[in-house]
Amino acid sequence: MADVRKGLIIVNTGPGKGKTTAAMGTALRAVGNGMKVLMLQFLKGSWHYGELDAVQAFGDKFVMKQMGRGFVKVGGAETDPEDVRMVEEAWEEAATAILSTTWDLVILDEINYAISYKMLDAEKVAEVLKRKPEMVHVILTGRNAHPTIVELADTVTEMREVKHAYQKGILAQRGIEY
Ligand code: ATP
Ligand code: MG
Repeated sequence: MADVRKGLIIVNTGPGKGKTTAAMGTALRAVGNGMKVLMLQFLKGSWHYGELDAVQAFGDKFVMKQMGRGFVKVGGAETDPEDVRMVEEAWEEAATAILSTTWDLVILDEINYAISYKMLDAEKVAEVLKRKPEMVHVILTGRNAHPTIVELADTVTEMREVKHAYQKGILAQRGIEY
């Protein structure tokens, strides 16, 4: 096999736990190799995530940003046009970051949800991924990864839920879930 150096498109999807945290593990590995990492969170949760504070220690080597106002679409509810506008804005920033070559690794956390909720067009995302700078790595996380993105990606991992503490009524634990 040829020893090719290239930026990879990686997808962490599926219903099991570990999509976002695996992306952060990769980020830690990249930073340790002197690479610069930007993580944009498309779906801002209602919790304050510990990683937001932890990455401060890395300065501009590992930057994490929460985008938008936290859009969680509840089944059947109409998508608020304001949320769609914010997703589009987040995507503009993501596209600029990917194409800028400022970052060696760009993580688009929960972007798969935004696409599956039809707040963001998969073709639009694919178009930018296709013309990303050669050495830039991109990780896209979230359930229900779009077939177009899966097709385009180099590495796709589907987290399968075997069991989750939540099913036993154990609520989210600090430091593990947030
Ligand atoms: P993590 O951030 O822990 O890696 P994730 O990114 O794979 O999880 P998401 O779909 O983004 O999972 O879910 C966000 C939150 O829901 C996290 O707090 C996560 O721990 C929790 N979670 C993930 N999978 C499950 C599951 N199968 N059942 C219940 N809660 C889950
Ligand atoms: Mg996640």
